[in-house]
Amino acid sequence: MKILIADAINEKGVENLKQAGEVVVQTDITPDELAETIHEYDGIVVRSRTKLTKEIIDRADNLKIIARAGVGVDNIDLDAATEKGIMVVNSPESTSITVAEHTMGLLLALARKLTIADKSVKEGKWEKKRFMGLELRNKTLGVIGMGRIGSQVVNRCKAFEMDAIVYDPYLPEDVAKQMGVVLTDLETVLKNADFITIHVPLTPETKHLISDNEFEIMKEEAFIANCARGGIIDEDALYTALSENKIGGAALDVYEDEPPAEDCKLFELDNIVLTPHIAASTKEAQRDAAIIVADEIIELANGGTPQNVLNMPRIDNTTYKKLIPYIELCDKLGSFISQAINGKIKELEVVYAGKLADVENIEFLTRAILKGAINPYLGTPINAVNAPLVANERGISIIEGKKNDARGYGSLIKVTARTNKETLSAEGTSLHEPRILKVNDYWVDVKPKGHMFIAKYEDIPGSIGKIGTALGERGVNIGIMQVGREKEEGKALMILTLDKEIPKDVIEEIRSLDNVFEAVRLEL
Ligand code: NAD
Repeated sequence: MKILIADAINEKGVENLKQAGEVVVQTDITPDELAETIHEYDGIVVRSRTKLTKEIIDRADNLKIIARAGVGVDNIDLDAATEKGIMVVNSPESTSITVAEHTMGLLLALARKLTIADKSVKEGKWEKKRFMGLELRNKTLGVIGMGRIGSQVVNRCKAFEMDAIVYDPYLPEDVAKQMGVVLTDLETVLKNADFITIHVPLTPETKHLISDNEFEIMKEEAFIANCARGGIIDEDALYTALSENKIGGAALDVYEDEPPAEDCKLFELDNIVLTPHIAASTKEAQRDAAIIVADEIIELANGGTPQNVLNMPRIDNTTYKKLIPYIELCDKLGSFISQAINGKIKELEVVYAGKLADVENIEFLTRAILKGAINPYLGTPINAVNAPLVANERGISIIEGKKNDARGYGSLIKVTARTNKETLSAEGTSLHEPRILKVNDYWVDVKPKGHMFIAKYEDIPGSIGKIGTALGERGVNIGIMQVGREKEEGKALMILTLDKEIPKDVIEEIRSLDNVFEAVRLEL
């Protein structure tokens, strides 16, 4: 293989890569130079500097693998790579410990007022009384999001003799038990924790998860740290909470705008510690990222299958072509069902009907469904290769079935999810684009795309109008509305596609309407 290293990575990774073939290091390559030469390479390694746009990928006639030494892949056009049959890999595990250690640094800086004490000494002062601190020992740590990083923070806090309580609605009880933590609801975490730390992805559900109401119920001395993503804490609400001493202090590594504006109000405050999105920046994390992606390329060069493939597993071309129209449908069905269902998914059952029942490698599609179902609430994109493993870790079992009758459609895919609270199914097909045709026993016909809303309500005059009014009053325009019902004046289901995201409080308002049983917003 001939591999281009287009962004600076750790030496060890460069050295290891030589086992895969010829290595060219050109870490100052310009977009024009890259476009001219990309056809020469079988593999490319980037970090975030090099942008692999559709235009560049379209010229990459020999490229088999794009390796991102790190996690985020915003600089790579994944769809263009998939279309061209190029595998994209990253190194999701490389930063967990590094971010967890940074979180510990922030918690300690808050408890011992390290940053302002440092500033004071450098100003020639000796204010011992001003900097009375707190121990971490015997304090309650509240963790929001117990994934890779959250669990590493808990491990470290145990060494500080802290007790951990966790809010993670997607983590099964038995997995939490194995990790030695107590799962609880968000309010209990906020009310009882002395130190709160956030490790969730930024999703419509977690945007402004911590805002005025949440600061109101925290302890007066509570400290909160966010090393996850900007926007999970509402910075206006944080400013009010800190300036009115509603909580003890806060530490941020991430911001709603990065970098924050020069006149950001948070800069005025003493009870906040700020770092410039460096939680993942250590030599070790960079070295590990380089080694991990080098291993992935070597694996491919030796005919094996890399582990951290973000866009597709390798299957033969003829099967892949047959499955192409259904890959997006599967991803959307999985995402739809996991966002619409109430409770933690324990079982996913998939039935393929019609022509798809004859495809041997159908597991490929099941993986796409799993990926769609798990991705909405995980920080690092799950890929079709590791989806079954992650599902297993999260206690989700998978049942696959086939049947011939597709009720007149070429193929139909039905996904049924079971949680501790309910069973929900969604059935769809691909008619040039994904369509959902049935949700539980309700017939609908909807494109699963963009901002959506689903509600169950009593089928009596006025129910639909009240929901429409609640949305209209907040300027949320309905694009398409589909309703289905069991029987006249029975239960009914409404699915809407909307022109913009529904604010959280509007959803709460709709949930509180008479005759509405459930209301959920979805992003597809
Ligand atoms: P992860 O996917 O392993 O874990 C995320 C956890 O959040 C999961 O357990 C999931 O069940 C949980 N979760 C999802 N939605 C939730 C909700 N609404 N409420 C509570 N829990 C919820 O991700 P990770 O690798 O641990 O990363 C965590 C966060 O850290 C992500 O936002 C990631 O982007 C961020 N991150 C930041 C940096 C940095 O430089 N500051 C570096 C790496 C990762």
